[in-house]
Amino acid sequence: MALAHLTVFLILYGMYCANTFTIFYWYYKPDTRHQFVQGIPLSGWGLWYFLTFNPLCVAAIYAHQRASHFDPGIIKEGLEEPVNLPNHYEMTVAFCQKCEKEGKKKTWKPPRAHHCRACGYCIFKMDHHCPWVNNCVGHKNMKHFLQFVIYTGISSAYLCLLMGLSFYQLLTAKKSKPLPEDRVNTPYVTVLTILAFIEGVVFAFFTYEMASETFGSIEDNQSYIDDLKD
Ligand SMILES: [Zn+2]
Ligand SMILES: [Zn+2]
Repeated sequence: MALAHLTVFLILYGMYCANTFTIFYWYYKPDTRHQFVQGIPLSGWGLWYFLTFNPLCVAAIYAHQRASHFDPGIIKEGLEEPVNLPNHYEMTVAFCQKCEKEGKKKTWKPPRAHHCRACGYCIFKMDHHCPWVNNCVGHKNMKHFLQFVIYTGISSAYLCLLMGLSFYQLLTAKKSKPLPEDRVNTPYVTVLTILAFIEGVVFAFFTYEMASETFGSIEDNQSYIDDLKD
């Protein structure tokens, strides 16, 4: 639960840093003559960054909430096997012993269902239990999980770019022209900017790995657990 909350906090932190230290600092235009759209105190580039970065982060949070609250494919307690089970799969009727050990009713375990110890249920086409969304990733919420991973990956890479831009502007501003008067160039800002940059790098790589693994699972029609069992 804590890790799932931390995920949302980290996305909000990235939004705060990008908007405060880059977009509304370096591209801030209080003078209406320099505004790209009258009434919005941003230059053309500033407006572009604002309108592309923030929706990506909002989409990441939304997909995260969907992935963590959606039923991943829980096999209901006490489910009985179908009467006319097609036998072309040559499967034996199995019942989950782990569910029974946990005090649940005798529950049919369909092929490709796996028992998750964290959730306490059998999950259909369970891929893995994801602590970042505090839920299993299975047949029913795989789409939302993948959306969460992709939006987070792109916004993390974008965050790196925006934080890098902030440093670039700072360095070039020092050489050619004085810094804007209200520049809050304190160690506090520098530390927050560096942390946001590191956050972007770490999560861009992490989600890239996760997305390529998940795409591989979908392509092979093999979940991560299936791979482990093989
Ligand atoms: Zn079970
Ligand atoms: Zn689980």
